[in-house]
Amino acid sequence: MRFSMSNYKVGPTAKGWGHGWSTDRSKDQSRVKADRSGTKVNVHKRIAPLVDILLDESERRGYRFNPKTCGGYVNRAIKGTQRPSNHSWGLAVDLNWDRNPENFHGVLKTDFPAWMVPLWNRYGFAWGGHYRGRHKDPMHFEFMGAPADADDMLAKARREILQRKPIPQQGKPPQAAAQRYTVKSGDNLSSIASHLKVGGGWNALYQRNKAVIGPDPNKIKPGMVLTVP
Ligand SMILES: [Zn+2]
Repeated sequence: MRFSMSNYKVGPTAKGWGHGWSTDRSKDQSRVKADRSGTKVNVHKRIAPLVDILLDESERRGYRFNPKTCGGYVNRAIKGTQRPSNHSWGLAVDLNWDRNPENFHGVLKTDFPAWMVPLWNRYGFAWGGHYRGRHKDPMHFEFMGAPADADDMLAKARREILQRKPIPQQGKPPQAAAQRYTVKSGDNLSSIASHLKVGGGWNALYQRNKAVIGPDPNKIKPGMVLTVP
């Protein structure tokens, strides 16, 4: 890879992919399919054979995509900004968005098995669940390389996956399935409970986190990490 897997400051244009949103790049896209579930997504043709291998490998290992909750190319800006989304080049896929929801509250909810993120990382796709800060986008994988990297990663995937060599573990696995919430200034337990739709409300949240919060449920402090029941 010619570019860092964690540097989001260098965008696809600087990497040689041309302009994204609002340029219409639909002619650069090609449709790939996860064979077991029949899930189809449109992605840039230069990464399409690689995405095809990764979708199939993910399903071969036992994970299933839902055709109704996956997507790739969309000509749009990043939500709430005027900056092009990686989806507008066809360089990103959103996988099972219902079970891996994006949010801006630091909550990481994912149903991906432990091997899934390292698998995609290994071939140049960064995971939105690894974003720093409160924005977490665990459905989202984006290709971080230049066009020539796509070819290199494809060659590597063909060598390692299609020829079934064992793949060394690499990269950070997703955090445990439990959701966490970091208290921010102005929060109280009932506002958090209603915001995160906690069954049982503030009291359930308190009971689950008594060890962290202490005897007084009104005394929560910014920076405390709560487990969401
Ligand atoms: Zn996305």
